[in-house]
Amino acid sequence: MSTETPWPDRFGDSLMKSMGAPLGLLARGEGCYVWDESGKQYLDFLAGIAVNSLGHAHPAFVEAVSRQAATLAHVSNYFTTAPQLALAERLKRITGAGAEGRVYFGNSGAEANEAAFKLARLNRAGGNRHRVLALHDSFHGRTMGALALTGKPSLRDAFEPMPSGVEHIDSTIEALERSIDGSVSALIVEPIKGEAGVVDLPDGFLVRARELTAEHGVLLILDEIQTGAGRTGTWFAYEQFGILPDAVTMAKGMGGGFPIGALVTFGWASELFQRGMHGSTFGGNPLATATADAVLGEIEAAGLLQNAALRGEQLRQIIRDIGSPHVAEVRGRGLLVGVGLTTPVAGAVAAAALAAGLIVNAANDSSIRIAPPLIVGDAELALFAERFRGALDAVPAS
Ligand code: PLP
Repeated sequence: MSTETPWPDRFGDSLMKSMGAPLGLLARGEGCYVWDESGKQYLDFLAGIAVNSLGHAHPAFVEAVSRQAATLAHVSNYFTTAPQLALAERLKRITGAGAEGRVYFGNSGAEANEAAFKLARLNRAGGNRHRVLALHDSFHGRTMGALALTGKPSLRDAFEPMPSGVEHIDSTIEALERSIDGSVSALIVEPIKGEAGVVDLPDGFLVRARELTAEHGVLLILDEIQTGAGRTGTWFAYEQFGILPDAVTMAKGMGGGFPIGALVTFGWASELFQRGMHGSTFGGNPLATATADAVLGEIEAAGLLQNAALRGEQLRQIIRDIGSPHVAEVRGRGLLVGVGLTTPVAGAVAAAALAAGLIVNAANDSSIRIAPPLIVGDAELALFAERFRGALDAVPAS
């Protein structure tokens, strides 16, 4: 196909059918804005689904990638590098895992969760722990292990049989109390269910999960792939619930656009993996770790945790103040925001927003997900208010 052929045809002819039709062809980005191939500007309030923490083409990101690419991009796992050590030490500090913490690097969220699933299998207690608990409507990734943990049967059905032993339970304290006992190796939970439409867990859920898992020797694994790296206004959402997990997975925002994921273990969980049990060719390479270390360093230096908390509150208030009959509730924490709609018009609202130059996402038929870069300021919030109001007004109330 020639480059004269319209891009939707080139996409359809070359990309795997598993990919949905793209909303556009983006050509460049700067700060909280991206431009398509025709030069149209969009306010990016999705940030690559909670990935571009520093926005687009941030100098700290560009400098870190360029410097490291010009120095040392990849070595084998027979060697370590200064950026790998620096990032591992930073993650031990910001997770609260401290001296006993241990870090495994992968390249994506799904890979971090695959490592977490293997960690769960290692918590066997003499072979008696054969159950892994996850939540209905959760999302943990598309590889087979991560998919088995994912609580959406529609995503799993075509690929059965799944790796065995995973049970999905309701997101209620009663379900935790009914399900957790000495036959469970791990409970994996997203502190806020991002792909489900930014759905908060019930009050007290995580604290009770921590109590019960500790009591029964069960690993509490928190999937902070979407919520982590400062998105909710603290480094990790669990800080806001006053608990520490036994393991946390992260990806997305930690690389600011560079592919990287990690599993961090705490305390006794750090003793489970032994030499040779897991690995990855690219995991922890100097290019990815130098970039993630620079991104997290900039989040800290520029006060972006505080900004995420403050701007998140302002964003929620802006959405409430629009007073649209479409809006039933506003969910989430910090700059991970879910807008629950009264009717299933999320697709139409997201499409109207896009036409008006605003990128948000219909996480499902009745939820809009909003996740701007953590650098968002007054000007972007004002423009968001105008364009989001316009998008809601453009969709007829049924
Ligand atoms: N876990 C959560 C909570 C996610 O939101 C995602 C991606 O959306 C994943 C896991 C999978 O991450 P990745 O797409 O990088 O494999």
